[in-house]
Amino acid sequence: MALIVQKYGGTSVGTPERIQAVAERIVQTSQEGHQVVVVVSAMGKTTDSLVALSKAVTDTPPRREMDMLLSTGEQVSIALVSMAIQSLGQPAVSLTGGQVGILTEAEHGRARILHIDPNRLMHHIKAGRVVVVAGFQGVSSSRDLEITTLGRGGSDTSAVALAAALGADLCEIYTDVPGILTTDPRLVPEARVLNAITCEEMLELASLGAKVLHPRAVEIARNFGVPLVVRSSWTDEPGTEVRSPGPRTIPRQDIEMSRLVDGVEVDDQQVKVALRHVADRPGVAAHLFRALAKANINVDLIIQSIHAGNTNDIAFTVHRRDLARVTPLAHQVATELGGAEVDIDPQVAKVSIVGAGMIGRPGVASTMFSALGDAGINIQLISTSEIKVSCIIIAPDAPRAVGVLCQSFGVSCVASTPGETDGAPVRGVALDPRQAQMAILQVPDRPGAAGRLFLALAQARISVDMIIQSQRTTVTAGRVTRDIAFTLHEEDVPAAQQALEPVLQTLDCGPVVVNPSIAKVSIVGTGMVEKPGVAAQLFEALAAADINIQMIATSEIKVSCLVGADRGVAALQHIHQAFALE
Ligand code: ADP
Ligand code: ASP
Ligand code: MG
Repeated sequence: MALIVQKYGGTSVGTPERIQAVAERIVQTSQEGHQVVVVVSAMGKTTDSLVALSKAVTDTPPRREMDMLLSTGEQVSIALVSMAIQSLGQPAVSLTGGQVGILTEAEHGRARILHIDPNRLMHHIKAGRVVVVAGFQGVSSSRDLEITTLGRGGSDTSAVALAAALGADLCEIYTDVPGILTTDPRLVPEARVLNAITCEEMLELASLGAKVLHPRAVEIARNFGVPLVVRSSWTDEPGTEVRSPGPRTIPRQDIEMSRLVDGVEVDDQQVKVALRHVADRPGVAAHLFRALAKANINVDLIIQSIHAGNTNDIAFTVHRRDLARVTPLAHQVATELGGAEVDIDPQVAKVSIVGAGMIGRPGVASTMFSALGDAGINIQLISTSEIKVSCIIIAPDAPRAVGVLCQSFGVSCVASTPGETDGAPVRGVALDPRQAQMAILQVPDRPGAAGRLFLALAQARISVDMIIQSQRTTVTAGRVTRDIAFTLHEEDVPAAQQALEPVLQTLDCGPVVVNPSIAKVSIVGTGMVEKPGVAAQLFEALAAADINIQMIATSEIKVSCLVGADRGVAALQHIHQAFALE
């Protein structure tokens, strides 16, 4: 007998017939001798309709009232699912998040789960009932027990958190696709189902736009070792297993707040190469990284920030053992590209903070930048992924940087863990079409500047996605400055501009440039570590489709490119094909 948590998404409970089909599956699992806890979403597009309804009443719905409104969707479906189960002769009971005791922070609309008391549920389970829990909602742990919601798509997170708190043997996410696919099948019909994926890969994919799992659900599965499977509601196929690295632990408290950052990583054996003033047109990145791949030089970070005029700067790092080979090659490519300037810094270090807990927590990156700034350490380049922020600094500063970062986040220095690398270097590709790009020009090139800017955004609770501090420095009125670009949700642009305004004045930065229509395409796979040529293949696929790359940021297991919003879907399709994922 196993304890199984099953979560059914909106489409799966979208009609009375579907609710009956879901009830049959639940009853069957129960009759096989298992204890079942069910988590359900609101029916079909209910949540969207409720959002639309609120907008029809006011432009600025208070967040608290939004939670009152949106939480009703799930309350409808738990009652109906419980009725359907009972009509099949199986005892069942429906419970809201509050009744289960899903305690969250008091942040309306994006609350994180703090604690779930398993005893309330176990009481019903032991009495032979199937418990049907409302996903996406909880109550604040403060005295007033306010109804909170977890953020769109949050029912997955409810399910995995319940599985963690109960020490369930399995958490099954039932949805309208047969599992996790190489990309969104709605955009690329040839997408293929994966048998398994690591939590690291899934975290990146989920945060980069693969809606099939809420990233915070993956974070909990990873932190507490919850066995997790994504499967179809319509078939009996096995679906996709999401593999977590560690052993099982059952959380006592702070389910979603236990670890913001897992550790600090450092690599002080890097060389930084920058090509400055290369033409801003399709094919340039492809040319450069193809040459490096041919020479079998493994590239670590790649950073291309916003273009200045009609040229770009592309910077990348390689291991110091490749210094002698990369130097002539960089000059040769620069000549072939029509005379770009080459800068080589043979002694840089990459320090990174890693952790799934930084997703959606705007303060984490700014804490890192401020800690380095306070220690007088200048950041040369920044590149972020969803679960990692990396800064390039001069190598002699590395030990001090590690010290202050470990202290700031209360963690220790860890070796970088590329994870298991089975098979293809690229497992999945994702598209995030709803991004805007902001660039702050002429930020003073001195310790602390980035920290101040991102702290202001964090204090305004604005989540920033891809942060890129570019290679290019300009000297304006005797001051050395650098541009910093980042992406954010397009709806957050006005608030970000407002939050930055005072800091821009104090730091005496240049203008802010906004590009409201961009899409981010990304490739993800643990197998790309130590495999030269993966990034080149991506850039070539985009070049072949005549798609210009506006920004590039990488981590060990992903490469993201910004492209024009109108080319996003085409980019995704070309990349999917280029990596033969179909
Ligand atoms: P649910 O209502 O069951 O939670 P969602 O709509 O939230 O379902 O998520 C499932 C959808 O995610 C699929 O219908 C699919 O269009 C989309 N999707 C995006 N990327 C992927 C991917 N890599 N694998 C599977 N589905 C994906
Ligand atoms: N009903 C909520 C939403 O549509 C939560 C969920 O479905 O996961 O966002
Ligand atoms: Mg969902």
